[in-house]
Amino acid sequence: MTATPENPAETPLTAPGEILHTGAADYPGLDEWRRLPLSQQPTWHSHPEFEASVAELSANPPLVFAGEVDNLKRRLARVAQGEAFLLQGGDCAESFDGATADKISARVKTLLQMAAVLTYGASLPVVKMGRMAGQFAKPRSSDEETRDDVTLPSFRGEIVNGFDFTRESREPDPRRMVKAYNTSASTLNLVRAFTEGGFADLRAVQQWNKGFMENPAHARYEQIAGEIDRAVRFMEACGVEFEGLKRTEFYAAHEALLLDYERALTRIDSRTGEPYITSGHFLWAGERTRDLDGAHIDYLSRVHNPIGVKLGPKTTPEEALALIEKLDPHREPGRLTFITRMGAANIREKLPPLVEAVRDSGAQVVWVTDPMHGNTITAKNGYKTRRFDDIMDEVRGFFEVHRALGTYPGGLHVEMTGDDVAECLGGSDVIDESAFDGRYESLVDPRLNHKQSLEMAFLVAEALSR
Ligand code: PEP
Ligand code: MN
Repeated sequence: MTATPENPAETPLTAPGEILHTGAADYPGLDEWRRLPLSQQPTWHSHPEFEASVAELSANPPLVFAGEVDNLKRRLARVAQGEAFLLQGGDCAESFDGATADKISARVKTLLQMAAVLTYGASLPVVKMGRMAGQFAKPRSSDEETRDDVTLPSFRGEIVNGFDFTRESREPDPRRMVKAYNTSASTLNLVRAFTEGGFADLRAVQQWNKGFMENPAHARYEQIAGEIDRAVRFMEACGVEFEGLKRTEFYAAHEALLLDYERALTRIDSRTGEPYITSGHFLWAGERTRDLDGAHIDYLSRVHNPIGVKLGPKTTPEEALALIEKLDPHREPGRLTFITRMGAANIREKLPPLVEAVRDSGAQVVWVTDPMHGNTITAKNGYKTRRFDDIMDEVRGFFEVHRALGTYPGGLHVEMTGDDVAECLGGSDVIDESAFDGRYESLVDPRLNHKQSLEMAFLVAEALSR
């Protein structure tokens, strides 16, 4: 993950090759979470394969390196200071079968297109991050699911059990953690090849478009891509050789939900002697597992990665301040990101007290909007969906609140895919409920499709450049 032209004048980045990691078996405090209330976990500790699975993960190489994680923290510090924008996107729940070259490249390409639109439209560097290569564990509102009088354990993500509604598939299986690790490794390998091996070359910005010129989002993208292309050619004609135009930094993020997995992939960085979760660069605690005295927040407080916390509409200013105290006691720039998911109907009322309290405390966090999770509805034909207009309304509310309070709206967190699915309603190429049958693929929450994602990037770029 090399320096790019978007990040000029950065101190040289640490070369990952120089860093060694050691196991974290006896690191003081790292196992404190085991004594604390721990929600949303499978009961699988007596499973005959549990110990062997954890041992295998603990002996495996790290998926990401501490030096990269530190570089990301520096990038996020710039976001906190209002000098860059964070784009986080990907599946609600990754699936093992979905980790194909086609699907991964479409998703990365869509995120790069969104980032190009945001960078060009708002003249801001964009930190690119996938909900990818590890987003396999899901919190559920109920431990069990009943269909036609049959009750089985809920689906908790493919790292825990299977989606099919059969007893065999829903049985938690710790071997799935090893499969999730291997799937993450091959996903990350492809992402690294794409983003460092020429695929992210800004000179190919027009080729990322898939056509569909009749769609307004694509036509607008084509226009911006043409402008970027001309600017790049102009620089080339002037003799400027930007090595960095050919590659980009791309970071991997997921919810740190399944602590058996995250603990097994924690390593000590030999440079500093500090623990890092090496299953992804950025980890977040979800709305359901962010209790101050719970296991998840305790564990995240002890590792050195940049950390996110989802904040829903019930969050109080006191809770937000206590989370800062616990997760970022040294007020380290880039360490803590608050991902708010209030719902379009709540954001203008519920976000200001939190932002004001944090601002007045002097703490600097990155504020990100997740306009997906507060806007989920059930369609008449039973599908879980979201309206594009509600999603955009929450994004607009997020910008309005930060503008009014003089704080910086630092990023966007979306559930999206590069494919032509029909899961969210609306958009300029209108998706309606009749399109769900056959084109609804998500295992859990509905995602923006390729066109809806691009369209959102244009709207956000407009809001950012105002
Ligand atoms: C998610 O990001 O998929 C999720 C479950 O979010 P939240 O914790 O905000 O509900
Ligand atoms: Mn989700």
